Amino acid sequence: MTIVLVDIEQVTHTCPAFGDAHPFDTRRTVVDVIPGGPCRAPVTIRCGNTTASIPCRRHEPAKRQCGACRVIVTEHTITTRHLDEVRG
Ligand SMILES: [Zn+2]
Ligand SMILES: [Zn+2]
Repeated sequence: MTIVLVDIEQVTHTCPAFGDAHPFDTRRTVVDVIPGGPCRAPVTIRCGNTTASIPCRRHEPAKRQCGACRVIVTEHTITTRHLDEVRG
């Protein structure tokens, strides 16, 4: 499987509606991608006289992709920042 490492930065604030700090903005940054290797169930596409083999990730929905193509998102670090000023 393909593993995608993401850094998550959560920004919390307090506002008149909710007095307790709560996240209002979440950013995800991709820090690393570990490829899962070649597709184990390539899909053969025929177009006229030509056939081409493409990895199933480019053709199948995530649920039907092979183990190599499936993407797993791993949260690498989660940073929480508190914003003091009230916006909006
Ligand atoms: Zn708020
Ligand atoms: Zn595949």
